[in-house]
Amino acid sequence: VRTKLAKIILKRGKANPLWHGHPWVYSGAVDRTDGTYEPGDLVEVTDPEGRLIGRGLANPRSQILVRMLTRKEEPLDPDQPEDTSGAALTKLIARRLREAAALRARIGLPAEDTTAFRLVNAEGDALPGLIVDLYGQVAAVQFTALGLKRAEQAVFDGLLALQGPTRPTSVIEVGAGGFSQIEGFASATRAVRGPLAEPEALGKPILLPCREAGVSLEVDPLHGQKTGMFLDQRDNRVLLGRYCKGARVLDVYSYAGGFALQALRQGASQVTCVDSSARALERARAHAERNGLRGLETVQADAFRHLEALTPMSHDVVVIDPPKFARAHKDLAAALKGYRRLNTLAMNALAPGGLLATCSCSQLVGPEDFERMVAGAAQDAGRRVTLLHSTSQGPDHPVPPAFPEGRYLKFLLLCVH
Ligand code: SAH
Repeated sequence: VRTKLAKIILKRGKANPLWHGHPWVYSGAVDRTDGTYEPGDLVEVTDPEGRLIGRGLANPRSQILVRMLTRKEEPLDPDQPEDTSGAALTKLIARRLREAAALRARIGLPAEDTTAFRLVNAEGDALPGLIVDLYGQVAAVQFTALGLKRAEQAVFDGLLALQGPTRPTSVIEVGAGGFSQIEGFASATRAVRGPLAEPEALGKPILLPCREAGVSLEVDPLHGQKTGMFLDQRDNRVLLGRYCKGARVLDVYSYAGGFALQALRQGASQVTCVDSSARALERARAHAERNGLRGLETVQADAFRHLEALTPMSHDVVVIDPPKFARAHKDLAAALKGYRRLNTLAMNALAPGGLLATCSCSQLVGPEDFERMVAGAAQDAGRRVTLLHSTSQGPDHPVPPAFPEGRYLKFLLLCVH
């Protein structure tokens, strides 16, 4: 079967990032197109000299015109290298899912104490726009781009065909939120395969039991944020916990208590979770109870308002893990100002020698911008601050080295004197 793919030819000077492994072709990088294609179709991408960089899924609605799927001559189906049909794409998806599962096995996931982790990290697993989080036996799938959404049946089938401990029994799709508008597809949150998708289960609440680094959780994928949990912080939670023995901890923007629970587990004397979401705090309390952890208090409040009203120097550890402050380049200056004020307030709340764990998930704020901002906050707070750890998302969220956009998470652990 040979189907002729449309060819996207890049402008001079625009091919290098792609040769280096950057997975996106921006619409502005395209010189011309040979042939025609439909939104979501597979296309070939070449440099100005006509050399094949690889194949990807195109969506002319998006600024990201093509998301790369294969490199150079890598066939979709090694048994039929010329085949670029839907059947061949199905085989590629199945192969990529097996590769993703094999990488998680090398990382040591799942483990006895960790059954909640990211199985597929989109571009980082060469499955652009596809996120799969595993919560025990259930896979929560989210599409953030049209291409693989159009091939969703192949994704669901491929997941259920995995072997070993990463094989889910049920698959849930989590709605794509803002992405579906940008990309032009409809998506809803629903159980799609397995026992959870049986008629008698539909419409019932879903709570998925799983574990993270020894903490037992029940994740609510239908009403939660992201796919139900912020899995990218797992290693940072464990790291912070090591510093929490006997500490009075404040976990601001706590969601369901990710940092708080790990801090209590590792010996914190008491933890206050602050979040604007009552549902998230209800989860946090349920999680503490489930693990027999005492000393958790929750406050439903705006983070800034709460920090402003705190007694100065009243805490040993403060965590601030806010939602994205910068959504577009034009927001950057305001976002950095917001982060600086927030970090100043957090430092004010710390006793001398206390620890600040500060995070940013704004991809537009670079690691250096973030460190400079923290230094500015220290100046505003009149405190001497030293950096102990600087990390990012965990290894189950891998990214190509030529794709800094994919390394969105910044986590700094500082001592505030
Ligand atoms: N630290 C969490 C993840 C935080 S995500 C974890 O480890 O799982 C960001 C959280 O900020 C969300 O739970 C959201 O409900 C909360 N949030 C958003 N705006 C807020 C505000 N103005 N004040 C307090 N919390 C807010």
